[in-house]
Amino acid sequence: MHRILKLLDKNLLYVNHKIQGDTIFLAATSKRKRAKCPYCGHVSSSIHSNYERSFQDLPISDKKVLVILKNRKFFCQNPYCKKNTFAECFDFIVSKAKKTNRLEEEIVSLALNCSSIAASVQLKRNIVNVGKSTICELLKKRGTKR
Ligand SMILES: [Zn+2]
Repeated sequence: MHRILKLLDKNLLYVNHKIQGDTIFLAATSKRKRAKCPYCGHVSSSIHSNYERSFQDLPISDKKVLVILKNRKFFCQNPYCKKNTFAECFDFIVSKAKKTNRLEEEIVSLALNCSSIAASVQLKRNIVNVGKSTICELLKKRGTKR
């Protein structure tokens, strides 16, 4: 589990996991000491608070994966920045997204080869709970119209 998280981001640390039904709930935290403010680029090490963020990732052994990440908010110490705080960002997921980039890619590549409804049925079986409308949105975002 630890290694799987490292593949997403080398700063992620494994906390624990539990398997419930067809889903693995994977708790993680970040060990990054500093984070860059996405608004001004200033690097800060001053932590404001923690909050829980969850998102879906690629399945492991036919189990759906939900990562529960203790995400941190940092103070931006740049006096000229309009924002006082910002959330730690990760390359593997868009901020506020509920799915990792690699999972979105998996969904898109599957949906390109069949209808959105068929893709949804197949994905729900053992990859991720995703509806037809979400699949259509993802396809639209990638500029691949059907
Ligand atoms: Zn800033």
